[in-house]
Amino acid sequence: MTQWWNVDETHAADRISWVDSAVGHADFPVQNLPYGLFAPHEQEPRIGVAIGDLILDLWAVAQIDLLDEGFRQVAASSSVNALLSLPVEQRRALRRRISELLTDEAYRSHVEPYLFDAAECTLFVPAQIGDYTDFYVGIHHATNIGRQFRPDAPLLPNYKYVPIGYHGRASSIRPSGVAVRRPSGQRKPPEADVPVFGPCTRLDYELEIGVWIAQGNTLGSPISIQDAADHIGGFCLLNDWSARDFQAWEYQPLGPFLSKSFHSTISPWVVTTDAMAPFRVAQPPRPEGDPQPLPYLSDELDQQHGALKITLEVFLLTASMREQGLPPFRVSQGPATNMYWTVNQIVTHHASNGCNLNPGDLLGTGTISAPERSGFGSLLELSTGGQEPIHLPNGESRGFLEDGDEIILRGTASAPGFVSIGLGECRAKIQPA
Ligand code: CA
Repeated sequence: MTQWWNVDETHAADRISWVDSAVGHADFPVQNLPYGLFAPHEQEPRIGVAIGDLILDLWAVAQIDLLDEGFRQVAASSSVNALLSLPVEQRRALRRRISELLTDEAYRSHVEPYLFDAAECTLFVPAQIGDYTDFYVGIHHATNIGRQFRPDAPLLPNYKYVPIGYHGRASSIRPSGVAVRRPSGQRKPPEADVPVFGPCTRLDYELEIGVWIAQGNTLGSPISIQDAADHIGGFCLLNDWSARDFQAWEYQPLGPFLSKSFHSTISPWVVTTDAMAPFRVAQPPRPEGDPQPLPYLSDELDQQHGALKITLEVFLLTASMREQGLPPFRVSQGPATNMYWTVNQIVTHHASNGCNLNPGDLLGTGTISAPERSGFGSLLELSTGGQEPIHLPNGESRGFLEDGDEIILRGTASAPGFVSIGLGECRAKIQPA
């Protein structure tokens, strides 16, 4: 039986697409084949597959009988939910077929009319997201933030036993490119006796990976750690925009609320679990003295293959830099292996009380920071709560985000002997309140 970390012919480095722009493409070579929802030339949204600089219209390809009967209905859907809910073997079969269509010259003349220039298409949130949950598995982020509040004991006692999470807001998730309006809310300045209501003064981003749920589970039936990977459809980049001043005032005792729910940005492609197979690595061992996960979160194969070999980067482009024609400045870079829990563990934990996950649900990992400052995944950490602003090449500095600032997240998976793939772009600009 094929396992989620096994590679097949679709991953082979010598597999070449007849789509020229796919060869050497940073994000979407033929080894990736992520699903999205797109509209060509103001037509109706439909499911597509990113290939190089183009998008394959999966619906159209199904219409001309190039896909098996069983795939025609999911390809005709107006979201990827039905596709994600397919059994894992069928999802693999569809990937193999799309790879064949885009590499075998025999199909070229049939398929080519249904390729669209991605730059001329509108991209949407790919799934109908029923529920969105955000975790907190970036241990260096949790430690950095904890230290700002509790220098002697940055991590709370539950952190190494429970994958910490909270239920977020699905309705305000938007695809890359949609501007973010600076939120207004309650904050209590340190020197004030009472709070005020007004535009956020400590606006921040959070670098996260999004996890798309594939097949769900029935209410009352948990997902075992051994089965968790089959319930994950794929991955994206997630920017969990955060109003730090609202957050500090509102979070006790129930956790984040309006400081997070005003907007979240995702890269619009579902990079499938199968596409990620070559880029699964061992979960880094826990530091000496840390507890082992409880049995329901423990699995040897998950420990061997459960981490993601993705390099994550954050870029900042200010309005002045844009006017000066300067490129975005990279403010951090680090590996996604800085997660204390694997994605399989967070899925298993989420369903461990019997809570039902549904196809198209989105889980965020939580901010992923490296131990070094160069890999911190938020401005709150990079600027030490605004006290040590970061310096930009044009002389500007930032403690928190200003209007006109644009944040761009990138994620690249690479491994020796394989063609690198990317998660696509996750970018958005701050608009005034
Ligand atoms: Ca978060």
